[in-house]
Amino acid sequence: MGNVNHIDHIENKVMKTIADHELILKDDKILVAYSGGKDSCAVLYMLKKLGYNVEALTIDLLIGDWSMENLVNIRKFCKEQKIKLHEVNVRDEFGYSMCYIRSAVQAKVALKNCTICGVIKRWILNRKARELEATKIVTGHNLDDEAQTIFMNMMKGNPKLSVGLGPKSGVMSDGKFVQRVKPLYFCADSDLRKYSMAMKFPVLYDPCPCSSAAFRRDILNALDGLEKEYPQVKYNIVNNYLKSRPMLVKAYSGDDKLNRMNYCTSCGDPTRNAVCKACELLNIIKVPA
Ligand code: AMP
Ligand code: ZN
Repeated sequence: MGNVNHIDHIENKVMKTIADHELILKDDKILVAYSGGKDSCAVLYMLKKLGYNVEALTIDLLIGDWSMENLVNIRKFCKEQKIKLHEVNVRDEFGYSMCYIRSAVQAKVALKNCTICGVIKRWILNRKARELEATKIVTGHNLDDEAQTIFMNMMKGNPKLSVGLGPKSGVMSDGKFVQRVKPLYFCADSDLRKYSMAMKFPVLYDPCPCSSAAFRRDILNALDGLEKEYPQVKYNIVNNYLKSRPMLVKAYSGDDKLNRMNYCTSCGDPTRNAVCKACELLNIIKVPA
């Protein structure tokens, strides 16, 4: 497929995903979670091109040169595309740098780098989106990300973990929770890489230097291997999940913990528990070893 066809193909796929799954309405105020990677850059570009009311939010994780280089790209792109950029950093929002949070937490509990980082990013994203009165948060999650997560949850033997997946986040809606949507849900990682390169987006293709998700990497390699032998395997995994999702939701409809919405006793954010996961991490950091 030539470059122009490839570009049209992927942009049409995104438009179809938005329409079929009612991800975004014309009057939504969209905040794109822009990490500086190829996927969030691509989705930001496409939504702006489609005429949506879109702004970008980047969370600086303060990971040395990598973060600084990333930020230069992010600012450059938003300036070129005339997109309003909101910049926050993890120390201002959460009180500590990501490196400190990780080492302080991991000294006491066995949690992976990406798990800790993910919890904190989601907490900051939701707070900022609420503050900016955004009605949707858009992330750059793609088909490969989703197929990996579904497969990982299967390998963990716990279907409940997959209940909240899908192109729209969450099983419940709540006024304090800004819905996250994934317009790149059906776009393969390899297609997005080609798209980003064809568009010459200023992005870093190397993974975050702190990512150490060995399990996810094993699943990624396994799925890439399978896809070579059995084309469409990632799409089939995701599609299979979407078809069975209503049954899954029904099966867990009586699960109190999954269907209850509390407000964190510490920060007030919506959570299924008494204390949200971000505040749980904060408590781990603060309590002396
Ligand atoms: P990841 O979990 O790192 O694979 O990222 C998934 C999505 O989360 C990305 O496509 C972005 O939309 C968003 N995201 C990740 N890191 C950041 C960040 N530092 N700032 C803003 N959004 C982010
Ligand atoms: Zn909290």
